[in-house]
Amino acid sequence: MLIVQNGYECDYEMKLFYKLFFDVSDDVYVYSNFEYKDKRINVYTEIIYDSDTYFEDYYYDFDSENKDKQLIKKIFTASCTKSFCHAAKKIKNVNLPWGVMSGIRPAKVVRELMEEGNSREKVFEILKNVYEVSDEKANLAMTVAENEKILLDNIGENSVSLYIGIPFCPTRCLYCSFVSTDIRVSGKYMDEFVEKLLLEIDKSSEIIKKMGWYVENIYIGGGTPTTLEAYHLKSIFNRLKSNFDFSKIKEFTLEAGRPDTITFEKLKEAKNGGVNRISINPQTMNSETLVKVRRKHTPDLFKKCFKMARDAGFDNINTDLIAGLPDETVDMFRYSLDEVIKLDPENITVHSMCIKRAANLRFTDTELAKAQDMNEMLSYTQKRMSGTGRKPYYMYRQKNISGNLENVGYAKDGYMSTYNVNIMEEKQTIIALGGGGSSKLVYGDRIERIFNFKDPLEYIKRFDEILQKKDEIVEVMNKMREVE
Ligand code: SF4
Repeated sequence: MLIVQNGYECDYEMKLFYKLFFDVSDDVYVYSNFEYKDKRINVYTEIIYDSDTYFEDYYYDFDSENKDKQLIKKIFTASCTKSFCHAAKKIKNVNLPWGVMSGIRPAKVVRELMEEGNSREKVFEILKNVYEVSDEKANLAMTVAENEKILLDNIGENSVSLYIGIPFCPTRCLYCSFVSTDIRVSGKYMDEFVEKLLLEIDKSSEIIKKMGWYVENIYIGGGTPTTLEAYHLKSIFNRLKSNFDFSKIKEFTLEAGRPDTITFEKLKEAKNGGVNRISINPQTMNSETLVKVRRKHTPDLFKKCFKMARDAGFDNINTDLIAGLPDETVDMFRYSLDEVIKLDPENITVHSMCIKRAANLRFTDTELAKAQDMNEMLSYTQKRMSGTGRKPYYMYRQKNISGNLENVGYAKDGYMSTYNVNIMEEKQTIIALGGGGSSKLVYGDRIERIFNFKDPLEYIKRFDEILQKKDEIVEVMNKMREVE
């Protein structure tokens, strides 16, 4: 692989799109020449592949005068990648529903375009003409951006969110890419982990008060927090209550995740502890797939847990599904979605999976068919959700893997998760506790991150450093304020 760019460089995006068409080891030569003259962009791209030459001479009329630097960069970059993709499509027909949009947050692009003063129609036109996004995806991105904005506009001044990472799971799922340890190995550290976590809650509270902040949202994730025993959960909830003003907390989510970890006792503790949003994740409603991906529950157990959560008093339940699990057909996915909708959860989040695998493989006919299946699954989701009154409100695409897919959270009105939007759009400081999280300190457009340890044993052994990291929050924030 050799990519030569003349006139304008967008190395990151070129490599990203290159990977959608070719393997890094393929013998491909790419030459691109960029020119901007008389309000006209011209990008000439030549690709030599398998001894043949393919080219695209791309033109786009654009007046950069009085335009924001970021917008100019976006348009120039999109023009280069578009010229490359047009040439590459003459070699391989790769489906790009997101066109040449490369970021992981398409709704952020839409929001920024709107903040730059572009009308809805103009933004739609940019998505279509500059980025070549399909109508379906452009509508999705616009709707997500509009719903996100409602939540972002309501972030309280001086408010922060807390993220508490519980890095334990009963077993490890086949597709897991999260911070988690199998309790058959790490279960012996649970008691000590929770003891330390309680101390970290105290320390975080001290720092939050010192900074003049208050907590608006709490999210307990992982891992699977309900892998902990009911008494562990109770002690965490009590400690949170004694440290923070719960009258100011809008949203408190517990990721119950795997049905095989849920008991009525744990759900009651959560309800009494102030949790007002819970996630119970079937991932699929097909038993044979659950076995394949090493999830130790059945669809019936998921349904039972869902009912238990309702009986425990939860009126805001999220359920996660994954499109593209191994050997699942479009019909199997449709079945899962329809089954979940029958239970009437307030939130349904649909994650995408298969392109991640496909991206690592060569683009054979089978893999392309798989990508088409994925698109059908996501299309079905979009249509089905709009028919049930659930709206898309947060979305992210997975980094470095494909231009094709997205993960989308759908919710009924009044049930959209502020925390999910905050974490995507980075508009509110998030203080991370426990294993695997990273605190995101937001000051205006600037963001600094402080990472917690991932492994429970490391968390326990190096707990002094965890406390120091909390002190660092004050130092880093003060520095950010000074630089202003
Ligand atoms: S439940 Fe989630 S975090 Fe736990 S192993 Fe499975 S995918 Fe990973």
